[in-house]
Amino acid sequence: MRIEVDWTRCDGHGLCGLLLPENLENDGDGFPLVRRREVADADLRHARRAVAACPALALRLEP
Ligand code: SF4
Repeated sequence: MRIEVDWTRCDGHGLCGLLLPENLENDGDGFPLVRRREVADADLRHARRAVAACPALALRLEP
């Protein structure tokens, strides 16, 4: 699975970098930097939590 950010929705709430640090990093202004798009199986739980927590519905997991 890979993590995708919909930049038309992202408001820079900064949650995702905290919830999925394996793949995302906060750029300092609250927006995510995608360090790694592929989500390791061991990190899927974190990824699903980040997707569910995004207040702007801007994160999704894709096959
Ligand atoms: S949690 Fe959602 S809105 Fe906030 S920075 Fe991440 S993708 Fe953007």
